[in-house]
Amino acid sequence: MDAAEFRRRGKEMVDYVADYLENIEKRQVYPDVEPGYLRSLIPEEAPLEAESYEDVVKDIERVIMPGVTHWHSPYFYAYFPTAHSFPAMLADMLCGAIGCIGFSWAASPACTELETVMLDWLGKMLKLPEDFLAGTEGSGGGVIQGTASEATLIALLAARSKIVKLIQTDHPDRSETDIISKLVAYSSDQAHSSVERAGLIGGVRMKKIPTDSKFSVRGAALQKVLEEDRAAGLIPFFFCATLGTTPSCAFDCITELGPICNAEKIWMHIDAAYAGSAFICPEFRPLLNGIEFADSFNFNPHKWLLVNFDCSAMWVKKRSDIIGAFKIEPLYLKHDHQESGNQSHWQIPLGRRFRSLKMWFVFRMYGLKGLQAYIRKHVGLAKEFESLVKADQRFEISADVVLGLVCFRLKGSNELNEILLKRINSARKIHLVPCQLAGKFVLRFAVCARTTESRHVREAWSHISHLASELLQELQMGDLYYVCCPHGLTFTLLLQFFLLFIVKMYVCIVFYLFHFHSFVHSCCIFMKQNQILSIISLSFLKALFLTQHSCCDEISHQHSLTAIVPK
Ligand SMILES: *Cc1c(COP(=O)(O)O)cnc(C)c1O
Repeated sequence: MDAAEFRRRGKEMVDYVADYLENIEKRQVYPDVEPGYLRSLIPEEAPLEAESYEDVVKDIERVIMPGVTHWHSPYFYAYFPTAHSFPAMLADMLCGAIGCIGFSWAASPACTELETVMLDWLGKMLKLPEDFLAGTEGSGGGVIQGTASEATLIALLAARSKIVKLIQTDHPDRSETDIISKLVAYSSDQAHSSVERAGLIGGVRMKKIPTDSKFSVRGAALQKVLEEDRAAGLIPFFFCATLGTTPSCAFDCITELGPICNAEKIWMHIDAAYAGSAFICPEFRPLLNGIEFADSFNFNPHKWLLVNFDCSAMWVKKRSDIIGAFKIEPLYLKHDHQESGNQSHWQIPLGRRFRSLKMWFVFRMYGLKGLQAYIRKHVGLAKEFESLVKADQRFEISADVVLGLVCFRLKGSNELNEILLKRINSARKIHLVPCQLAGKFVLRFAVCARTTESRHVREAWSHISHLASELLQELQMGDLYYVCCPHGLTFTLLLQFFLLFIVKMYVCIVFYLFHFHSFVHSCCIFMKQNQILSIISLSFLKALFLTQHSCCDEISHQHSLTAIVPK
């Protein structure tokens, strides 16, 4: 492909992308394919002879699109958002064109310098303490990491290296291995799995601090564990606080935790991967109060600030803590302006893309006001969804709605909510994921796509509430068997159900004779009070037929469902 063809194809690709995004609503948000679907659609080996561009492009709709989960569909409400905007996509094109590897100032001065300045711009939008900014008297600064997971790992490794040096200054005889074997790091029991992994990769213990009724870590909880661990001869060295936890968007109380960490010489890292973007709005900035106690702070503009993946912003109060931990400089990487910054010392890989271009384009083309409006719109949509849920007596809200995430569930058993979610996702109209909060199975509704509007949220809610009505109705009619076996009944199963039904009805009739209520009421009482009996009769049937059909286990599991049959 020469420049002339690139010019033509590039314009076609931009048209394809614009069409895709303009019409994304018409595509099914979650694909229908099964694992392994793709292999059979393409050749076993790469082509020997060059193919034409047309042939490649033709396969996008045939091979790729059927297997795409459309994260930018306004019907996508799963996980957390991943950022997406036209200016960021254009900047990404330019990044690809320049194609530099900006590991040092000399390797690409613009790449290194723009990144430092963009992290200062962003830090100022968040009103970070001056210590964290590079262009001030302070000794801090910011850098782009690929992901929040890497930021947490880097912070943990830097903290590990700092504590080892600190202890060895006082006790030169203590070996590094000995010290590391005693180290212990902490996080909330609601922290992202990447925090636990950072502990695994960093080779240190990672303990989870229990959270309060709002899913937030409080000072007293940390203090208690610290005392126990110090008494046991361990060395606490790192605490990862979360602002905006993944399950429910809860906030650890960093104004209580920060002073404890500072006093105990524990590195406090703050993971605000999702929520961090909201701190550019003055009304949400108080959620970041206590940041002055932190050693490092990280959030993902690639989640909620319109900068496409990957772009995770990380700041440290002392550059030397990070750089000191990971600096190795062979001759071939040395240059005349060593002091001008070498961002590869802040991360694991050597290579780095020119990612700050995306920030520069987005910040300039939206302006702080545009970015704030975007955050506020998403929070407003979440509030709208929350009020729809609250207006329906069958549902409950499971955690405070602070930003763009609503945690909700049907009042009743976990199994009931699992079935509801299964039905929501198999209908393929919208896409949601669950979480576990205080032992309860909870549905998460995260406002994700840039183009989500009020009408989409209302449509999603009416879809969910319709499916809930269907489910509850089936349960009311005692039509449990259908619920248990959505994939159709085989003959054996039918027989099993039939016999089970007879056993149950028999007991119901007995109940009826002793209770002067309606027959249906007796059934309900029976079902509520006699789950054990049901399970026994089921086991009996299982033994009788000697079948190990997986549905059987599902059915015994589902028996707790009867507990929610309305009176
Ligand atoms: C999403 C998320 C992460 C992981 O982010 P990556 O950038 O994909 O590593 C970590 N922590 C929290 C709180 C998150 O919500």
